[in-house]
Amino acid sequence: MHTDKFTIKQSVLTNSAGEKMYALAAEMFPICRSITGNGVRQSLDIIKKHLPIDINEVPTGRKVFDWEVPKEWNIKNAYIKNSQGEEIISFKNSNLHVLNYSVPVHKHVSLDELRPHLFFLQDQPDWIPYRTSYYKEDWGFCISYNQFKTLTEDVYEVFIDSTLEPGHLTYGEYYLRGAVEDEVLISAHICHPSLANDNLSGISVAVFLAKQLEKMPRRYSYRFLFIPGTIGAITWLAVNEKNAAKIKHGLVLSLLGDAGNFTYKKSRRDTAEIDRIVSAVLMASDSKNRVIDFIPYGYDERQYCSPGFNMAVGCLSRSTYGQYIQYHTSADNLDFIRPEFLEGSLNMTVKIIETLEANQKFLNLNPMCEPQLGKRGLYNLRGGNNDSKEFQMALLWVLNLSDGTHSLLDIHVRSKMNFDIVKEAANSLLEAKLVREIS
Ligand code: ZN
Repeated sequence: MHTDKFTIKQSVLTNSAGEKMYALAAEMFPICRSITGNGVRQSLDIIKKHLPIDINEVPTGRKVFDWEVPKEWNIKNAYIKNSQGEEIISFKNSNLHVLNYSVPVHKHVSLDELRPHLFFLQDQPDWIPYRTSYYKEDWGFCISYNQFKTLTEDVYEVFIDSTLEPGHLTYGEYYLRGAVEDEVLISAHICHPSLANDNLSGISVAVFLAKQLEKMPRRYSYRFLFIPGTIGAITWLAVNEKNAAKIKHGLVLSLLGDAGNFTYKKSRRDTAEIDRIVSAVLMASDSKNRVIDFIPYGYDERQYCSPGFNMAVGCLSRSTYGQYIQYHTSADNLDFIRPEFLEGSLNMTVKIIETLEANQKFLNLNPMCEPQLGKRGLYNLRGGNNDSKEFQMALLWVLNLSDGTHSLLDIHVRSKMNFDIVKEAANSLLEAKLVREIS
């Protein structure tokens, strides 16, 4: 279906980061993922070709706070045949055709008996909806409304060759050590079947962000999670409850491959450092980006921001869930995401991390009146042009506000000066021994 276009795009832009991210999404796209099972394992094996992740398995039945790790679900095939023996719906055409987590079934039913097991979208008659039934044992098929309308009275053979048995919940984890033990959490869900923006875009951005961070000097340590939504985050938090306190900042990454402007949903804390940093970076890049308040709905920030953990974890996306009509349908496919948007998202996350890494506090070591900058070679450093005047102002702001209570982000906000110039000024003052780092 999408192969032709994908091949053309690949040949045009083979070497860009965006194209590599798109290729990773395309490689994972056909796999039937769910909250457990071989689809998650296969996807993690693909990620492992890029990053040395640990793959962890937690057994069915393990209590994880108020929940329990469910039985493991796997599927080989599914179809509906009419009385002529024609396969009118086939799992092989789209894994969205099967209600995700359907129990096995093989029987002959009338249209009346079949109808309650069919899911479709009247508003989007060409598209197949994505539906799940994780915690209520059921079976079903998802079809386009146009196909539903063609169904006539008949005897239908329904077959779902699945298993729902004790097994494991699988997740991937990658830890990247920095200078300090304080951690930044990057979390992406890995439980949706053939859906591109919702699921694969976040995974691709997280993988390529990790690859970039491997090459960068790091103050913080980084922990990347590739986990099934909700139950995966709950399981990880239950297994790692004691270590969760090391996480000082975090981002859930999702919906990052479409054309929409960026949306940042703040953590429950509302004014955490990550909230202020992402807001500042987004606003500095484009006023069309938006920052929205925390609500206890959405992706795994729901678990990270539950009151018992209250972690400083927000969610970065472009369009938000429910905000684009392709959401949770067969139209959220490889045509809906684009290499350039994935690359823009990667660049944005890198910028956020660079800002977070640089956001330190300094102490002015010469606080009694202004120090004499000229004798230290810091006055009119760049020959009196506008750049130089701006840099002079940044030096004065950093000196003035570096009383031990203001971070570079505070200085950037108060001075309304570009963060990078503030950072450069702080570095020059550090070299001149006029300030020292205090955190
Ligand atoms: Zn989703």
